[in-house]
Amino acid sequence: MMRTHYCGELNEQHIDQTITLAGWVHRRRDHGGVIFLDMRDRDGLVQVVIDPDTPEAFAQADKSRSEYVLKITGRVRNRYAGTENPNMPTGMIEVLGKDIEILAESETPPFPLNDDFTNVGEEVRLKYRFLDMRRPEMLERMRFRSKVTSKIRTYLDKHGFLDVETPVLTRATPEGARDYLVPSRTQPGSFFALPQSPQLFKQLLMVSGFDRYYQIAKCFRDEDLRADRQPEFTQIDIETSFLSDDDIMNITETMARELFDELLGVKFEPLQRMTYADAMRDYASDKPDLRIPMKLVDVADLMQNVEFKVFAGPAKDPKGRIVALRVPGGGAMPRSQIDEYTKFVGIYGAKGLAYIKVNDLAAGIEGLQSPIVKFIEPIVLELLQRVGAENGDLVFFGADKAKIVNDAMGALRVRVGHDLKLATCEWAPLWVVDFPMFEETDDGHWTSVHHPFTMPKCDVETLTSNPGAALSVAYDFVLNGTEIGGGSLRIYNMDMQKAVFKALGISDEEANEKFSFLLDALKYGAPPHGGLAFGLDRLIMLMTGATSIRDVIAFPKTKTAECLMTHAPAPVDAKQLRDLGIRVREKEKAAE
Ligand code: ASP
Repeated sequence: MMRTHYCGELNEQHIDQTITLAGWVHRRRDHGGVIFLDMRDRDGLVQVVIDPDTPEAFAQADKSRSEYVLKITGRVRNRYAGTENPNMPTGMIEVLGKDIEILAESETPPFPLNDDFTNVGEEVRLKYRFLDMRRPEMLERMRFRSKVTSKIRTYLDKHGFLDVETPVLTRATPEGARDYLVPSRTQPGSFFALPQSPQLFKQLLMVSGFDRYYQIAKCFRDEDLRADRQPEFTQIDIETSFLSDDDIMNITETMARELFDELLGVKFEPLQRMTYADAMRDYASDKPDLRIPMKLVDVADLMQNVEFKVFAGPAKDPKGRIVALRVPGGGAMPRSQIDEYTKFVGIYGAKGLAYIKVNDLAAGIEGLQSPIVKFIEPIVLELLQRVGAENGDLVFFGADKAKIVNDAMGALRVRVGHDLKLATCEWAPLWVVDFPMFEETDDGHWTSVHHPFTMPKCDVETLTSNPGAALSVAYDFVLNGTEIGGGSLRIYNMDMQKAVFKALGISDEEANEKFSFLLDALKYGAPPHGGLAFGLDRLIMLMTGATSIRDVIAFPKTKTAECLMTHAPAPVDAKQLRDLGIRVREKEKAAE
């Protein structure tokens, strides 16, 4: 070992000891005859002083620049009175450097690592990720991530879970995204798919009798990327046999509670369980941010006969929805802010944002300020009573197809709540349960809300006769408005699995072609089973307070799914393509 100590670990207990450090020059200062080197490694910084009494060391220090890699042997001593630095964990001491070896030189880094960092663009950071991660902030997040996975492994080991690896080169595992495909050389024209999740393999492990499985697994989904998505991401993937949905929620909830308690000192009360239907009704979201207590109130029944088409239309439309959002104290909101929120709901397809400011309820209609009051006069007071409006409040309205209203008003509720600092707590975890089995696509087909292996709450006949009404034994773990985990009991009966495929428009041939192994497994004694997966990256993002998922992944991809450092994806040479039996269409041809 080159070093005896890490920089950051030195303190007054080491005074007079001769130690050896190995690390990077964080900063070099020349104070007329004395050189100061702040040395940095994984554990922190320490100040090294080199004076001309040791001419060889001095010459090496003189040559050194930021980010040079040095091995330094020296003696730990107290700093002179008045030169201590209480802001630095090692600020009471320094090292008097006696011997310096330059292990590697460094060019001037593309961005300073020892200075104000705020102006460095993410592109540069990602291109030079290996330098970006020298920054303590990044290092700390990675260290935290490592602690989380280690604790999770310990917890799951203790509860009898076996860590099993499942293949990365496989067949499609449908989770609702596009697959990443890998061409086969040995079977030209055929492709592997990278797993969207280990879903089917973990179910098969249950059929094998493994009883409790986990894996910290890479998953691959080729989707349009948003701030909190990555094409490859990590799941804490779990499956169990012979447990109820309650049991599974309890085991995984306890794991999450222990993590938060041990790593952040945050204690969660036992999690509330909210049905999907209630979540949609009150929060217009299946992942409600319960830090914000405001609820939406349905008012379509009052609007049936109003003159105002914007309300009367959706009120009569069976697929329409009208909700009101009472913002306590929102009456003080300036017009410009309301305009900004109007733009915001526009992102979700809302055509406008009606509002009423409640100045003085006792004055009746006169006490209201709003462009729409005159159109809904006959019902406005009943309306305000229903939403519980008080003087000084503002009430927003969303009226449109239910999907648009839910997306727009669900997001507005959270946005306004945070803008007006209405959050009542820092952490709001909950389970959302009783999801529908299916949702309707724009072209009138059914797709799975979770995945096609999710157990319905009803029998085969009920499912077949009215798929839209079927609920599933599925549960999502939601934290602060983000879904960080989700799972379900699975179908372990062939007839039910076939009925679900059928409802999804998957023919017997297609089911046999794609999932024959699963259907086979269901013939040979499949136990009742179920599980869940947590998104590790999102969990770490929330726990560390990072604003982007990219900040908690060592080597992430950009929003256009590129790695700016390795330049992946990249063209390959013609020979490789030939071996794979692939010809790339020229751009012009592809565009035809
Ligand atoms: N495979 C599911 C997913 O990736 C999780 C589960 O049902 O266990 O969302």
